[in-house]
Amino acid sequence: MVGFLLLAAIRGGERDLAMIVMKFGGTSVEDAEAIARVAGIVKQRAKQKPVVVVSALGGFTDSLVAMAKAAASGDLPAALKLWRAGRQRHVTVLSKLVSKANADAAEQQVQDLFGNLQDVLRGIAALGELSPRTQDNILSFGETLSSLMVVAGFKSAGLDAVHIDARQCIVTDASHTKAVPLLDPTNARLRASLKDPLARNRVPVLGGFIAATEDGTPSTLGRGGSDFSAAIVGAALGARRIEIWTDVEGMLTTDPRICKSARRIEVIGFEEASELAYFGAKVLHPATLIPAVESNIPVYVLNSRNPESQGTCIQAQAPHSATTFRAIALKKGTKILNIKAPRLLIAHGFLRSLFEVFEKHSLSPDLVNTSEVSVSVAIDGGRDVKPLVNDLKQLGAVEVENGKAIVCLVGDNIRGRVGICADVFQVVAKTGINVHMVSQGASEINISFVIEESDAVRAVQALHAHFFEAEHLPVSVLGNETYAGCAGVA
Ligand code: ADP
Ligand code: ASP
Ligand code: MG
Repeated sequence: MVGFLLLAAIRGGERDLAMIVMKFGGTSVEDAEAIARVAGIVKQRAKQKPVVVVSALGGFTDSLVAMAKAAASGDLPAALKLWRAGRQRHVTVLSKLVSKANADAAEQQVQDLFGNLQDVLRGIAALGELSPRTQDNILSFGETLSSLMVVAGFKSAGLDAVHIDARQCIVTDASHTKAVPLLDPTNARLRASLKDPLARNRVPVLGGFIAATEDGTPSTLGRGGSDFSAAIVGAALGARRIEIWTDVEGMLTTDPRICKSARRIEVIGFEEASELAYFGAKVLHPATLIPAVESNIPVYVLNSRNPESQGTCIQAQAPHSATTFRAIALKKGTKILNIKAPRLLIAHGFLRSLFEVFEKHSLSPDLVNTSEVSVSVAIDGGRDVKPLVNDLKQLGAVEVENGKAIVCLVGDNIRGRVGICADVFQVVAKTGINVHMVSQGASEINISFVIEESDAVRAVQALHAHFFEAEHLPVSVLGNETYAGCAGVA
């Protein structure tokens, strides 16, 4: 009985915290007008106990990377030029955003942070090197600044906002620039920091993307990681919903920068959305859905420039898509490694040895094709593969091909549909594009293939035209219907 009451009390406590997480990306907080728009959107949700997660001002993380690189290469004047432009931008945004009453303290914080940033840049220039740990320190200024400024802006707009330092709540390992959250301490700290403000109906605001190791050294969750921060917060508090507010109408049938006719997806399953994010749909950081899946929290992708739009609902199960595929993703910057083994080794655990080498280098292959004597592996091209290649050479001859891209078509029950693969490759063949690797059947929900990066946009455009723009497509693809189980967001 005591146990039951205790459980009920804990559950009751969690229900008190039941809230929504609203994450606003860089373009949603790029200037004073955008931040004011965000304040309006949050106000509309005030009764639902929002916790707000924000990215750095649009483009500022890229600028921080450039400053750090310039300083490390010995060009301190170039670094300081970017630093001055960044400071000017932040001070201008703040002055437009904040009423006199909140201006002085907020401006002092901004000036102090830029002072600290300059010190770090000078340190990098003096040492002439940029470690991943120092890069994280530099990048953490972006979200620290934006979250403080958003709090000041919210207060001026009449919201009772409170700043929560994400570096004191989200605890990660020390794999800097792509740190992995340690969930137990993170959950405990998030609950402890957010419980009181939420109970008092205040609006907590955290910087996304940034965290710290257990000893307090700043770390980051990988580029685009604010989405992941929002999901971590949502899972820690048992949120009713996680909202990812961005600059497009939701998850679309492909990247709108590649196809202007890309359409909003109304509802999509966790698995399909994860696959799209992993294979290049930048609208979601690939790890975002992991905490959401574990806690079964629906994720909405919404447009901060058009808040009335329904956006995309990502949930455990989605109805079958009316089109053959749900969407197409494109991942550029891929490398192919071809490993040709002596025949004898094939019979004696060649594949096992091969994957052990990948594991040793913490590299997970995106796509694998095998033949009797050789294996081709497609991997993310962003890393130096020399150490990996050196180890692979123990197993056989290794050839590295750069400049490739993976195209990934995602849909429900692809494996069960006859002729679907032939359809895809007929479209690709008509473009005259040569395909290097293919994967179908490994997953129920995707067909992927590797081509030259220079052919990638053309391939996606041709596939999108065939599978999403043809006249015979059902009208519901264009409709705005809300599906059962996908509760409205308003
Ligand atoms: P934010 O700053 O809000 O995090 P991002 O730039 O990270 O925004 O992600 C939004 C962008 O993702 C869109 O502007 C769009 O160009 C790109 N994108 C790529 N694939 C897709 C897709 N399938 N659906 C929607 N957007 C996509
Ligand atoms: N500001 C970070 C980036 O540009 C994180 C994010 O925007 O999600 O990568
Ligand atoms: Mg993003």
